Amino acid sequence: MALFSKKDKYIRINPNRSLREMPQAKPEVPDELFSKCPGCKHTIYQKDLGSERICPHCGYTFRISAQERLALTIDMGSFLEMFTGIETQDPLEFPGYQKKLASMREKTGLDEAVVTGTALIKGEKVALGIMDSNFIMASMGTVVGEKITRLFEYATAEKLPVVLFTASGGARMQEGIMSLMQMAKISAAVKRHSNAGLFYLTILTDPTTGGVTASFAMEGDIILAEPQSLVGFAGRRVIENTVREDLPEDFQKAEFLLEHGFVDAIVKRRELPDMIARLVRLHKGDCL
Ligand SMILES: [Zn+2]
Repeated sequence: MALFSKKDKYIRINPNRSLREMPQAKPEVPDELFSKCPGCKHTIYQKDLGSERICPHCGYTFRISAQERLALTIDMGSFLEMFTGIETQDPLEFPGYQKKLASMREKTGLDEAVVTGTALIKGEKVALGIMDSNFIMASMGTVVGEKITRLFEYATAEKLPVVLFTASGGARMQEGIMSLMQMAKISAAVKRHSNAGLFYLTILTDPTTGGVTASFAMEGDIILAEPQSLVGFAGRRVIENTVREDLPEDFQKAEFLLEHGFVDAIVKRRELPDMIARLVRLHKGDCL
């Protein structure tokens, strides 16, 4: 007996149904099993990415959570989280914002889009900030601004270097102008930290864009980036439409920025802890 009868060859389409409602032909694969590499477009079995979450084909470093970043970067058990519990304001009473915040907190286990505190990295004590793109694309609202500002103020008082992993879609639109004001607020704290002769290291991760790039992400004494990270201010299409020119394929990639002097070095994820510790020691004047 044939597996399919003849009438099964045809899919009956109800003209009254909208396209959106129609079942898609694409086979469904659970998200957690496979990932498509944004770098080389290969479909990769999750397990092959390993704990560092690096594409085995092209070396693209997948986006990771703040918790994963901590586990890969610091000396185990050395993280002391600080500046938690600051309540996010909703100055514009933006529709659905409170609900979104609640669902993000639930999903990520974080209170906001940046985690701040102190930690040891290869034995070196640093003030550490890690932005997490899983939390409203790590957009910068008032709490993100406040946490990073307090981190710099604490580091200035305690004479600590600041190590900041940046990731962001830019300023948080739900908080309007209050978000944009964080750029100046954080920059002033960075300047006071710098005036005290202290070291600030930024590590640009995928994606670092908008107001974060236009302020503290680019204010580090040394600026590192992970391979193939997207780093920019405005989006590619906006720029193309403004300058009316085709942009290079690797425009706004870390490698392009390195070539043009915006980034000091591109460092592989597994080499970052050693590199951070070396730079901190170098700044202290210790032997490498
Ligand atoms: Zn790849």
